[in-house]
Amino acid sequence: LKSKLPGVGTTIFSQMSQLATEQQAINLSQGFPDFPASPQLVSALAQYSAQGLNQYAPMPGVMALREQIAALVQHCYGRIICPAAEITVTSGATEALFVAIGATVNPGDEVIIFDPAYDSYAPAIALNGGKAVHIALHAPDYRVNWQQVADAITARTRLIIVNSPHNPSGMVFSHSDWLALQQLVAAHNLYCISDEVYEHMVFDGAMQLSANGFSELAARSFIVSSFGKTFHVTGWKLGYCVAPAALTAEFHKIHQYVTFSSFTPAQYAIADMLKLHSEQVRSLAAFYQQKRDSFATLLANSRFKLLSCQGTYFQLADYSAISELDDVAFCRWLATEHKVAAIPLSVFYQTPPQSRIIRFCFAKQQSTLEAAAEALCQI
Ligand code: PMP
Ligand code: GLN
Repeated sequence: LKSKLPGVGTTIFSQMSQLATEQQAINLSQGFPDFPASPQLVSALAQYSAQGLNQYAPMPGVMALREQIAALVQHCYGRIICPAAEITVTSGATEALFVAIGATVNPGDEVIIFDPAYDSYAPAIALNGGKAVHIALHAPDYRVNWQQVADAITARTRLIIVNSPHNPSGMVFSHSDWLALQQLVAAHNLYCISDEVYEHMVFDGAMQLSANGFSELAARSFIVSSFGKTFHVTGWKLGYCVAPAALTAEFHKIHQYVTFSSFTPAQYAIADMLKLHSEQVRSLAAFYQQKRDSFATLLANSRFKLLSCQGTYFQLADYSAISELDDVAFCRWLATEHKVAAIPLSVFYQTPPQSRIIRFCFAKQQSTLEAAAEALCQI
């Protein structure tokens, strides 16, 4: 078979989680919580399944859930969206990203992405015959230089993919970042995919902002989020895409043939959570800020130098005081010799920088963070 993705191997997330299992290492690599989801959510899932809601959901998602998504978007960002025409429930944010890229990218189109970039973007662009144009963000703050973005736009540029709060860096767009993005998208008739899966994890009292809050941008955007992150159920693979009706219509043409619809009882269960327990969404930032701060305190006496983390559940750490190894080799050594698994940053770059930085996931119980920190402080 002639490979359509010749440069692509197994994702770093599978590799590192497998290494963690083999080495019986504490897994701070792949991003997922090691604590349970809320009992209300788990029992709602079981109840809906027991009630017999086990057949295909409507193609764009269960209406009760779409109505709750519209209410959430209005509550968080003041934007009024139509549940029937502008929302699609998807099988994780991953599916939403894949479908939105499929709906926008034609052969020869250029797509601007920011490295370190979440690893599903570039393969999806390539499968549609597009060309990813990589703009590198750098330590320590990973901020976007919008002049550099403007300079990268050509007559073939069709799409910009942004991700705030940003995985893996923890950088969060400011109000002026969103305005600069909006200005470029509008001025050049581009489309935007805004990957906001960590939208409810913004720390230190910063405003939670979204493409939903910028009307000219929202008019040209596919805005993607994930209930896996928000409700601690990454394995349920449930997310959604908000886009204007005309864009959603194109999105549906692909979504209906990728998967048709997503896991039915989970859609009802999440709808209940949003309706009856929305305080769990509102308290998410404080919940993860406490974990971020606790992990930082536990590592204060280590030789890792922690970078700033404004959002997400990831913490970057510079290990240059510890080792000269490159980050992939360092992560292998760390998992093998010190039984803590992390993610190297270079794999998210087209042209990796020379920095020695790795990513830890702190979506873990206190006891896990303490055990990991104990090992990391001995290095
Ligand atoms: N985008 C980013 C930036 C992510 O970190 C993730 C989760 N790994 C996803 C998309 C995919 O989300 P989901 O698990 O809902 O498919
Ligand atoms: N989003 C998760 C992370 O960044 C992993 C997702 C995946 O395994 N594909 O670690």
